[in-house]
Amino acid sequence: MVRRMGAVLELAERAWRGELAETQVQPGTALVGFEELAPRLGFMSAFSNVVVVATDDGLVLLDTSSLFHAKRVYEEVRRWSPTRVHTAVYTHGHVDHVFGLAAFEDEARQRSWPALRVIAHERCPERFARYRLTQGWNAAVNQRQFGFPRPVFPVDFREPDETLREARALEIGGTRIELQPARGETDDHLYAWLPAERTLATGDLFIWASPNCGNPQKVQRYPREWAQALRQMEVLGAERLLPGHGPPILGAPRVRQALRETAELLETLVEQTLALMNQGARLDDVLHGVRLPDALLARPYLRPSYDDPRFIVRNLWRLYGGWWDGDPSHLLPAPEAELARALAELAGGARALSDAAERAASDARLPLACHLIELATQAAPDDAHVHGARARIYTARREAEQSLMARGIYAAAALDSAAKSERD
Ligand SMILES: [Zn+2]
Repeated sequence: MVRRMGAVLELAERAWRGELAETQVQPGTALVGFEELAPRLGFMSAFSNVVVVATDDGLVLLDTSSLFHAKRVYEEVRRWSPTRVHTAVYTHGHVDHVFGLAAFEDEARQRSWPALRVIAHERCPERFARYRLTQGWNAAVNQRQFGFPRPVFPVDFREPDETLREARALEIGGTRIELQPARGETDDHLYAWLPAERTLATGDLFIWASPNCGNPQKVQRYPREWAQALRQMEVLGAERLLPGHGPPILGAPRVRQALRETAELLETLVEQTLALMNQGARLDDVLHGVRLPDALLARPYLRPSYDDPRFIVRNLWRLYGGWWDGDPSHLLPAPEAELARALAELAGGARALSDAAERAASDARLPLACHLIELATQAAPDDAHVHGARARIYTARREAEQSLMARGIYAAAALDSAAKSERD
């Protein structure tokens, strides 16, 4: 095994200095390839990364990457080492982390090697079961969020062989790997600490972007517990942080800073949201009352390029409160179209609402423009002229937003109305 300073470490250095465009470090980062970071420690930089540890009893994979990258992961790992895979660990059950094992398992069968073992959090199988229950929903969500052309959401999971609820230390072929459960992005998350290598594999508790902790279309996230996990990791003294997405972070001071500042970002959102909730505020007051830590959000590893920290406030509301936003009219509401028709009548027609929306958009009041154009289209769902305005407004809104999640939703709305505006 020859150690080279290659593209991955070069990317790591440039990313830390903030020299890369957001798209190169955010969770959708392009596949860079495999690199040996230390003797017996490899790192596969893909859309979602794989950490490969060579032990005396075989390889240990920390995460396995996605269906899209499985072939490349297999080939690159095999170029580095011909040894059998002894154990694979899922840091969590998201589909981009758990679909990279098929080729390794085929190979083990062909060569009559002992079967590899998969270890995950005890809640991981429940996640897979939920994905099977909601496959269509998740396909639609991913189509909106990532702009996939066809709905696709795989559900033929490689289930774990062993699960854990408490911290567990693996001793495999002379290498110690400590697994620590930690709720954060998911309820089935864990991170791995290799004490001898001073190396931390964080899974998606660190992703080179503002934490995926608010996601508007997905299930509950856990901001407070996430921050606590980052604080636990901060004191380990890691020399290397190997994230779920994006390049490694090297050197103890940088690792500490990245973990501390990510924790600080979450902590201020949690504190402010809880303070307002404890005063009995309604959701509207909370959404517009919480102040974002702009200096932290400017860090190359905390930019809101994927999730939006404003969505984390809503996740906290859902976690500690309920779904009701505090507006009594929203408790058992009229159909939206009924309200929209009543307001359109008062305004002098749906097109009057639509014109007002376009004026608001040209005054740079895009959130207001979106409210008005939704009312206009709900009042006149077949009016191609109104849909034309809606397509323009959501295209502008998309351009004005930074997070992939907001941009995906606004782009889907613009696309929907663009199609309906061409019917006349
Ligand atoms: Zn991920």
